Amino acid sequence: MDMTAPLSAVLADADLCVKCGLCLPHCPTYRLTPHEAEGPRGRIALAQGLLGGTLAASPVLAGHLDGCLSCRACEAVCPAKVPYGRILDATRTALATPQRTRLTRIMGVVLESPFLRMLVRFGLWLSSASLDRVSRSHRERSRPKAPAALRLLDYRPIVRRLRAVPAPVHGTVALFTGCVGDVAERDVLHDAIRLFRAAGVQAAIPPNQGCCGALHQHSGLADAAANRAMHNAETFARYDAVLPLATGCGATLRDLGRTAQDGTPALAPKVRDLCTALADALDAQPPQWQPRSLRVGIHTACTQSNVFGAKEAIRHLLARLPGVTLIDLAPESGCCGAAGTAFITQPAQAAALLQPKLDAAAEVDVIVSANIGCSLHFLAGLRGLGLRAPVLHPVSLLAQALPA
Ligand code: SF4
Ligand code: SF4
Repeated sequence: MDMTAPLSAVLADADLCVKCGLCLPHCPTYRLTPHEAEGPRGRIALAQGLLGGTLAASPVLAGHLDGCLSCRACEAVCPAKVPYGRILDATRTALATPQRTRLTRIMGVVLESPFLRMLVRFGLWLSSASLDRVSRSHRERSRPKAPAALRLLDYRPIVRRLRAVPAPVHGTVALFTGCVGDVAERDVLHDAIRLFRAAGVQAAIPPNQGCCGALHQHSGLADAAANRAMHNAETFARYDAVLPLATGCGATLRDLGRTAQDGTPALAPKVRDLCTALADALDAQPPQWQPRSLRVGIHTACTQSNVFGAKEAIRHLLARLPGVTLIDLAPESGCCGAAGTAFITQPAQAAALLQPKLDAAAEVDVIVSANIGCSLHFLAGLRGLGLRAPVLHPVSLLAQALPA
């Protein structure tokens, strides 16, 4: 079932819930409140009432559903395997109005316009929030750099600048950049390509790939999300492994790309966790790593843990680095609060959820996260405390240990 699931199928999904409550201790919003309607069991009951016609849409009902972080910690632990994410998305679609989806539609226009994306990149650079900028200040770069102003103006599609990648030795993987990856994480793309090259694998960046559709999916714009899923399925049709830079994008590619359509193979089965795929490649052909003494704080995004089932992927990837100490940042507190646009729409909740992780990060030299939304949320939180610890993609931290 994808975004256009019939109502009867969604209600059948919801009926799988036996209201046992085993998911409640794992729900970050329930733990914060704790209020039945701020937990998965309550939200499923609200969805059943709304979709079944026994409850009317209201600001209170919508507020409880909007408060959900879509972290899917509940789904991961549910013994009845209730597909909570699908139920929530269908319910948000039922609640969608032009007013409720305005922010998503504005963000969609901005992030899908090359010119406006260039302005976003400039804004991120100015505000020091750019992961590129932070990561550059943290390491010695091996490739020549243009002056900052020229780098900002260089907005050619990144694929054109990477055509000189050597022919594959052990196969080809495709990197999914989404709409934010080549705005805020261009260096991560270069680092991923360098690492795969060291493992004898070519990493391609197919042109014309588009937004994963996550913003639209989680705002109830089902048709817009489905269109983006179809576009990406066609773009990546010839690749066997699709590796998203951000785990949040990857989760959406998996959710929306379950079925083949009109001769285009389904995308979901090909989407893998980048850290896991890279670790597999490096295990097969390990490079020599440069040792360094570093305390690394690991933040595992909800999507990496609960959708990809890759809770230990960052630790497994970075454990090969000699000299580093790996510290999980308050994993028991779950979601950091970034959660798509939740850090914008629910700032108080987002700050409360981030705090235990910031406390745990007090003694680390660097924080790693494989999801751009979490990384930006961490950066903002650290800056609010006057801390300058860099936040890197684990791929970039690993690439720093490659021989020059
Ligand atoms: S979602 Fe699953 S764990 Fe939570 S109350 Fe329903 S059946 Fe129990
Ligand atoms: S997705 Fe996360 S925030 Fe939403 S109900 Fe489930 S555990 Fe709670």
